[in-house]
Amino acid sequence: MITTRFAPSPTGYLHIGGLRTALYSYLWARKNSGRFLLRIEDTDLKRNSQEAAQAIEEAFKWVGLSHDDEIVYQSERFDLYKKYVQKLLDEEKAYYCYMSREELDALRAEQQSRKERPRYDGRYRDFTGEVPVGIEPVVRIKAPLSGTISFVDGIKGEVSFQAEDILDDFIIARADGTPTYNFVVAIDDALMGMTDVIRGDDHLSNTPKQIVVYKALGFEIPKFYHVPMILNPSGKKLSKRDGAMDVMEYQKMGYLPEALLNFLIRLGWSHGDQEIFSFQEMLSLFDPSDINKSASAYNGEKLLWLNAHYIKNASYSRLTQELKRFDVNIEDHDKQEILVDALRERAKTIAEFANMAKSILQMPLSYDDKAVKKFIGEDSLENLVKYSAYLQISEKPLHLPIEFEEITKQFMAKYNLKMKNLAQPLRISLVGTAVSPSVYDVLSILGTDEVNMRIQKFIQTIKG
Ligand code: GLU
Repeated sequence: MITTRFAPSPTGYLHIGGLRTALYSYLWARKNSGRFLLRIEDTDLKRNSQEAAQAIEEAFKWVGLSHDDEIVYQSERFDLYKKYVQKLLDEEKAYYCYMSREELDALRAEQQSRKERPRYDGRYRDFTGEVPVGIEPVVRIKAPLSGTISFVDGIKGEVSFQAEDILDDFIIARADGTPTYNFVVAIDDALMGMTDVIRGDDHLSNTPKQIVVYKALGFEIPKFYHVPMILNPSGKKLSKRDGAMDVMEYQKMGYLPEALLNFLIRLGWSHGDQEIFSFQEMLSLFDPSDINKSASAYNGEKLLWLNAHYIKNASYSRLTQELKRFDVNIEDHDKQEILVDALRERAKTIAEFANMAKSILQMPLSYDDKAVKKFIGEDSLENLVKYSAYLQISEKPLHLPIEFEEITKQFMAKYNLKMKNLAQPLRISLVGTAVSPSVYDVLSILGTDEVNMRIQKFIQTIKG
């Protein structure tokens, strides 16, 4: 059974790079009817781990990812790791190293002066002498001193490391007994039954160390997929300003989760030149071996484009729900569908959508000066008065945009007016600016009474 995981360190929130690896891991597990697990790597930062797990679960919930089993917290597994340290000590695959801080510093300085890579020289590997007093030893694992460590990465192909370039007998337990990063990651991945480890390629250099641990403990080595980074458009590391922020910020900015996931799956993976992927398509088409070998560039315009696409195609009830987050409640509005259709083509985010909806639904508190100067005079005010009266005496019911269009045309014919005499003044009186969706849509959404009230208020305001 395919088992994957997402293993964040508890920074307190989930950022989009993390969400992308989580998505890849999730899809691969679910596609294969496998398991997708969550592990919080909190050996150093215990303090934040519960909050971090909550933040991750909140973000997962928002985008629709779910994990199996209980969350694994590394900070709760120290006893387990200790057993494995002991096992390696018993099997003489690891040993106590009594090197003091001063000795280590001296070794480093010496190596630096010879322009060598700082590395432990193995002085306690086969130590049989008298144990130095007053030193709490660390535990080091016996790593291969020469030869290569290779594995076939699902994205990068065969990857080989020269043992002497990258390894030394690295520490697996510190002097205070706490285990180290690469040691616990390998143990957890093995015990959690990982078959496929999909993670950022910033972890590639950790992999040979983890392989040493797997081998020493006789664990099966999973398949690794090291995913190239997401860079900013100028090819640099993605910063917060570029978009590397908390996933929930995207919700606050009015992105739909399906747009974000669609954006993320395409950052580093493709299927021909297809851009739009439903969740079902992601599941059926995604394969981590098709992940691009090179880094991908974050493109905010593309994300907006995708978001606009998903807004255009979302159901009325969905958009109604989303708008609530932005303090717009149109659930009981009798022209809900007309309002949504009038705006869905124009909004790139739900935040924009909500602002546009508010500008129609709320009585304008002020009127755009420039527009007033440009379009409002004695004539236009008079036209508005007449128009308002005309609506009031209409015998036909006025509900739909088409009904308002008809009566407006009749009105213009009767008074020999052109649309330009009426459309902008009417817009300004209704929404406060000369910019709005189709004026007939606005009329229909507001209804005759509200329209008349707004016209009246406008005239009063202008006449002072
Ligand atoms: N905890 C690591 C991180 O947040 C990920 C480790 C892994 O995926 O192996 O970058």
